[in-house]
Amino acid sequence: MTFLPDSFRNRLALLFVGLALLVGLPTYLYLDHVYAARLIRDRGEALRDLASAVAAVLGENLRERQREIELLAQTPLYRRAPLDSPDFQASLERVQESYPQYSWIGLADPQGTVRAATGKLLVGKSVAQRPWFINGLQGSFFGDLHEALLLSKLLPQAEGQGPVRFIDFASPVFDESGRVRGVLASHAHWRWAAEVVQVMTPHDAESNALDVFIVNQDNVVIYPEGQEKALLAPDKAAFNSRAYSTGGWGDGVSYLSATAQVREIIPGQHLGWRIVVRQPTARTLADVRDLQRVVLLALVGATALFLVLAWWSASRFSRPLERLAALAHRIEAGDEKTRLEVTDAPQEIRGLAAALQDMADALLSHQEALAQSNAQLEEKVSERTAALAQANAELHQLARRDALTSLANRFAANERLQDEFLRMRRHGGSYGLLMLDIDFFKRINDTLGHAGGDEVLRHVAATLRTLVRESDFIARVGGEEFMVLLPESSLADAARVGEKIRAGIAASQPPIDRQVTVSVGVALATPEQEDMDLAVRQADTQLYRAKEAGRNRVAGGPQSAA
Ligand code: GH3
Ligand code: MG
Ligand code: MG
Repeated sequence: MTFLPDSFRNRLALLFVGLALLVGLPTYLYLDHVYAARLIRDRGEALRDLASAVAAVLGENLRERQREIELLAQTPLYRRAPLDSPDFQASLERVQESYPQYSWIGLADPQGTVRAATGKLLVGKSVAQRPWFINGLQGSFFGDLHEALLLSKLLPQAEGQGPVRFIDFASPVFDESGRVRGVLASHAHWRWAAEVVQVMTPHDAESNALDVFIVNQDNVVIYPEGQEKALLAPDKAAFNSRAYSTGGWGDGVSYLSATAQVREIIPGQHLGWRIVVRQPTARTLADVRDLQRVVLLALVGATALFLVLAWWSASRFSRPLERLAALAHRIEAGDEKTRLEVTDAPQEIRGLAAALQDMADALLSHQEALAQSNAQLEEKVSERTAALAQANAELHQLARRDALTSLANRFAANERLQDEFLRMRRHGGSYGLLMLDIDFFKRINDTLGHAGGDEVLRHVAATLRTLVRESDFIARVGGEEFMVLLPESSLADAARVGEKIRAGIAASQPPIDRQVTVSVGVALATPEQEDMDLAVRQADTQLYRAKEAGRNRVAGGPQSAA
């Protein structure tokens, strides 16, 4: 479905509509086909029964009229009395009174002259050419419906009616010896057909649009009068063995119609009348249509009800789910206090909410623990970093310190020399350099052992510290060799310090029972020197000279001949 979002609600609603259609459509189709067909059959049979009944009654009535004339012709009066007897007139009048639809009853002689008649109509006139007379001479005769040729002018006519029409009944009159002595005939007004049909027609015929017709052998409607041309009834062939059919008539309307044959009145004389009963097919099926409407309404109503029910029950599931999703988004956005709770929801969804809440709790507590251990880790790292920095600093110290005397070592002396040299080159000034070497140290080692030598080295170092300024720099640069750097000093200053050191050590109290002396070489570093090591080499040279000159002395000062 593209026109509706694919939600649980819509799917369920669609399912219900589908189910309603699945149930309703077959019912509707059943009504349309099966029930309608059955209704046509039942009504068709009812119409056929009605047609049969009307045909039977109509036929019986006609035979009665025929028999009446035949019986009258056989009475002694008609067999014996002279044809000019006034008794005929009286007899005919009596018969006419017994049946009001007789328009005329009369007696004609074998030549076709009317000798007696009701109301003396046509008496003396010739009816020799009339079919009823011609046929009546031969035997009993029934004359089909026809317009009254001779009588119409004589009979009283109602206003606005069409031509008067009759049916004729005729019978020959015999004398005692069996010879024909005349023809007795009656004309019945066609009105009587209406009477018979009306008596037979059901009382609700009009409201059911039920029509009854009498159709002659030429398939022309002879009753009701005036519809001969308007209607063309289906001929006999249109009715199958069921004696009813549906189809269009001459007026273009579809009718359910049934037919029944009127039995012949006189044996051997084919009449061919039929009774046709019809009802508009639409009227017949009106009940089905009504039922279909009711079913359709019920179907639509039920579908709507199902739809509402489906919507409601689906909402009971999907609403809490949507609410849960919204709550979960709030937690996701950082609102950790949000509780995943849905009240008024089915048990399954409440279970889901509880499970989601447990999951959220677990995730949040994991997150918290993670943050905590992260913080601990960071603390530990910074602790370790600090320790490392300290160790590095200590290492830095150690790398630059002489383990025996705790003075700076050669590595540190080189660094300091570099710094001092660069500073001097930048800012100018000069610095002094003293190189010291303990005299005859090998002898000390030889007599006191290596440990004794070390004692002496520590003693010299400690004494050196007391002899120079805080800002001066002392380093042990070899076995028993020391270097002293004197920032911002002149050569004279350096020589003075050198002398002070020589004298101080010579006068000190070493941990051995013999005097310890040092020889000192003095040099000055100045900005014009390109090489940092130049002053060092000069001080070394001066030291060598001091040794040469007899030891325990200072060489390289301003007075010494360089
Ligand atoms: P001079 O007056 O010419 O300097 O004579 P000297 O005996 O001092 O000769 P030299 O400088 O050649 O000898 C140095 C000796 O110092 C050699 C070595 O055994 C000793 N020595 C070097 N380093 C140490 C040390 O760390 N401890 C001890 N105990 N002896 C050392
Ligand atoms: Mg030496
Ligand atoms: Mg020495």
